[in-house]
Amino acid sequence: MAITTAIETLNPRTWLYPTPRGLYCEPGDFYIDPAFAVPRAVITHGHGDHARPGHRKALATPETLAIMRTRFQDMPDTDQQALKYGESVRIGEVEVCFAPAGHILGSAQAVLAYKGQRIVVSGDYKRRPDPTCPPFEPVPCDVFITEATFALPVFHHPSDAGEIGKLLRSVSTFPERTHLVGVYALGKCQRVIRLLRESGYDKRIWLHGGLMSLCKLYQEHGVDLGDVAPVSEAILETFKGAIVLCPPSAIADRWSRRFADPIAAVCSGWMNVRARARQRGAELPLVISDHADWPELTQTLKDVGAPKVWVTHGREEALVHYARGIGIDAEALHLAGRDEEDS
Ligand SMILES: [Zn+2]
Ligand SMILES: [Zn+2]
Repeated sequence: MAITTAIETLNPRTWLYPTPRGLYCEPGDFYIDPAFAVPRAVITHGHGDHARPGHRKALATPETLAIMRTRFQDMPDTDQQALKYGESVRIGEVEVCFAPAGHILGSAQAVLAYKGQRIVVSGDYKRRPDPTCPPFEPVPCDVFITEATFALPVFHHPSDAGEIGKLLRSVSTFPERTHLVGVYALGKCQRVIRLLRESGYDKRIWLHGGLMSLCKLYQEHGVDLGDVAPVSEAILETFKGAIVLCPPSAIADRWSRRFADPIAAVCSGWMNVRARARQRGAELPLVISDHADWPELTQTLKDVGAPKVWVTHGREEALVHYARGIGIDAEALHLAGRDEEDS
């Protein structure tokens, strides 16, 4: 007797779907984190595989736009529209708003509402506290799109404080040596500095030149990094006992030869994979990740409570399997142009 509502139910894949240029929202005529320049983009955060130059219009948080201007020479040809967390804007027939993703400064989940249906594109996220950005906010929705960078049960990231403690113990054990710490320039670098400060380290922290501009930007946005200075400005400095932050690639570079008997540390979620740590030349691998580990990913699916989950950006199969096991209609969403910026 009952008439099924299935026919009336909007299939979310009809209004948000992957294309070769990226995830496309048809009733809003925009792409989310497109892999190529497009007429209108919504950007979740400033990492290179999400934020690219050359869009005609870009909507992002004010912090993400500031990061993009720093990285892409001010983007004079892009019409930039800033949207703060919690505010909303209408694009075409779609209501768009941003919720914090807890990943890096300015990182956001894009919350899209259309015809009574809500899809959350979470971009990259993590759940543990990060002193450089507001925490991830679970948003109830019909479809949750999640990353899967560390989506295997073996990935359990240890506590940040414990990893920073390893670095500080090594610094006090080897006071004659320089500690070269490989960090990704956007997010990881500033978070590691803040974690060092919270652990009570108040000495000057030296920076590779490639890290300066984004550190300055974080400071302008109220993230107190304490006493930081570029290595290039130090004329008489011996760097004995110093902590020097640099991009991971600089550790094996000519640049690192100036330091006396350095100890190479690398901060990355991948550092709990021994082969990756070896490949990076990390004598002191520190597992500090800007992505959710397995417990955080699975907890997030429960917290968000979406009946449908689309998994992208990493190891989709395990998380799809897990989600189906707890009654979620889950599938992999294959998007072009993603890489692991955290590797
Ligand atoms: Zn990212
Ligand atoms: Zn990413």
